[in-house]
Amino acid sequence: MIFVGTVNLIRNRDQGTFLCPACGVSQGYRLKARRTWLTLYFIPTIPMGNHEYFVQCDYCKSNWDPSVLEMDQANYPDAKEDQFSEQAVNAAVLVVLADNVITENEIRVLLRIAAHLTQRSVGRDELGQICSNAQQNRIEAVNYVLTVSKHWNQDQRARALQGMFLAATADGELGELQLAVLARMQELFDFTDAEYHSAIEQAVEWESGT
Ligand SMILES: [Zn+2]
Repeated sequence: MIFVGTVNLIRNRDQGTFLCPACGVSQGYRLKARRTWLTLYFIPTIPMGNHEYFVQCDYCKSNWDPSVLEMDQANYPDAKEDQFSEQAVNAAVLVVLADNVITENEIRVLLRIAAHLTQRSVGRDELGQICSNAQQNRIEAVNYVLTVSKHWNQDQRARALQGMFLAATADGELGELQLAVLARMQELFDFTDAEYHSAIEQAVEWESGT
């Protein structure tokens, strides 16, 4: 009998200091790369997939998307549309994963959200990969959006919020965790109540439209 399995190997790739959004002050960080390996007899032999990078604060141990390292630069260039749509899909996935559970219904809704945001069809395999990366990187939805949304324009912020809202309501009732995440998004995006509500109202049109 051959013992086959997988293991995640995490290596430190870089280190330095950054403005940790959770601590609110400059802290040391480590840039880490995670990769899944196929194991034979418990020995990692073949790498599967690409490296996933994340930044970890040395002090509070919170994990961040690597874009957090650019946050103290004064100018944020606009995100390219394909980069934005990928990030917005990640954000919707993280909202669903906030309660550590993903249901068949949520998968169906996430597939629709991903297709709407990326303007192409997204398969279950691709979505599964995104979910497993998101789960293993352990970046919280709010922390993720806090960093990547610096590059989003107002329209992109509204669309990302709609994706997160639909993801959060996929199972009908909004959980307390997901409600808190959405409320924080309004703050992060600096949306007035009117802007926030109008964005949410438009989300409902996704269902009937494309
Ligand atoms: Zn920190």
